[in-house]
Order: sequence, then C-alpha cells, then structure tokens
Amino acid sequence: MTYIIAQPCVDVMDRSCVEECPVDCIYEGKRSLYIHPDECVDCGACEPACPTEAIFYEDDLPDEWEGYYDANVAFFDDLGSPGGAAALGPQDFDPKFVADLPPQNQD
Ligand code: SF4
Ligand code: SF4
Repeated sequence: MTYIIAQPCVDVMDRSCVEECPVDCIYEGKRSLYIHPDECVDCGACEPACPTEAIFYEDDLPDEWEGYYDANVAFFDDLGSPGGAAALGPQDFDPKFVADLPPQNQD
C-alpha cells in the first residue's frame, strides 16, 4: 500500500509535502510530484501538508482520479528506485497520463 498524488497537484507543485516526508520519497516531475510506491512508508505525514488536498491513501483515492495510481507508478518506470528525491532532483518529464492533460489549476 502507498500514498498517491492526484490531479490537484498538477501545475501547482508547491512542494509543501516534500518537507514533511521522512524518507524523501516524493519526487518532482515536470508538471506534478509523484510518490514512490515502494519507498513510501505510509506514515501519512504528507497528506495534511498539501494545500490542494492532492494526496490520498491508496484505498481513499477518489474514483475520478483512479488513473493517478498508475501514473505515480509509471513515473518511476525508467528511474527505478532512486532512494531519495533530493539527490535525484527535478525531472523534465511526466508519465503520459499527466503530460497529456490540458493546463490545470490555473484559476
Ligand atoms: S506517507 Fe509518509 S513516507 Fe509516504 S510519501 Fe507521505 S510523508 Fe512520505
Ligand atoms: S503539497 Fe500537494 S500540491 Fe504541493 S507539491 Fe505536494 S502534492 Fe503537490
């Protein structure tokens, strides 16, 4: 089980969650952040820190955003398990599911 970042983060990316994560497993893409499904220790510290309420426990992910489970996994298809977001740094890509979205959260 893991936590998942869903659509309200897309094009927001304020990184409040990153500072709360004790294992540095919240990684930055081009338009969203992503939680590594294997590195996350399910502590829940990130969830209340998110101003857009984008973070959900896997079982609580709203149906309308169920695609974000796979999107959070797909972000790491080529990265594997880097073992720390700070050392890796921001990445200049998103999984196709997010890359194909129109601009979000612009109002
Ligand atoms: S639940 Fe805990 S370990 Fe997982 S991403 Fe959030 S802060 Fe990090
Ligand atoms: S706190 Fe929320 S909106 Fe900000 S980067 Fe994290 S998931 Fe995205």
